[in-house]
Amino acid sequence: MSNNNLKALLREYEQKRILAITDLEHRKNKLYNENPRLEQIDKELNSLAFRTTKQLLEKNDENLLNTLNAKIKKLKIEKHNILKSIGKDDDFLEPYYDCPICKDTGYVFSNYKTTMCNCLKQKLFDLEFNKSNIYNLKKYNFENFLLTYYSNVVDKNKYNSNFSPRENIENIKKIAMNFINNFDDPNTKNLLFTGNTRFR
Ligand SMILES: [Zn+2]
Repeated sequence: MSNNNLKALLREYEQKRILAITDLEHRKNKLYNENPRLEQIDKELNSLAFRTTKQLLEKNDENLLNTLNAKIKKLKIEKHNILKSIGKDDDFLEPYYDCPICKDTGYVFSNYKTTMCNCLKQKLFDLEFNKSNIYNLKKYNFENFLLTYYSNVVDKNKYNSNFSPRENIENIKKIAMNFINNFDDPNTKNLLFTGNTRFR
């Protein structure tokens, strides 16, 4: 597995994450402008979350914690209802990631272990696979194409043709080369290869 491919993909993932967060900021600003109460609720929720954490760490005053949690619950319901009234889901105020599993980080953390997410594995596989196909092109190309591999003896019984396999393949090669040389011409017709593959 190529390290460079992984690095390039992780850079791509980071870009995607930045885009998702920027997109969220735009959506949020628009929504807050249209519904100022939502911005107030989010501000209050942030401050309540901070106070709850502080309570848990410092005094652990159960009554106060209950009051804070009740306030949080009430605000969340209000927020849900406002979003619903304008036809939005609760996740409208979350970033839209390509992969909700790893949130476009490429990695997932579970059971105290960090593992590569399937989306990243698949992308790495695709890159490696394409590379190996391109690598094959270095070997399997017209320069290495051996016409002598084909017999120059006409065998009408075997091939049902008045041409030798060599003449036949020379003609096919000519058509294929013509196709490549005129690939960008819109009048060039596509090529379709049919028939059985034969190994010997
Ligand atoms: Zn993923």
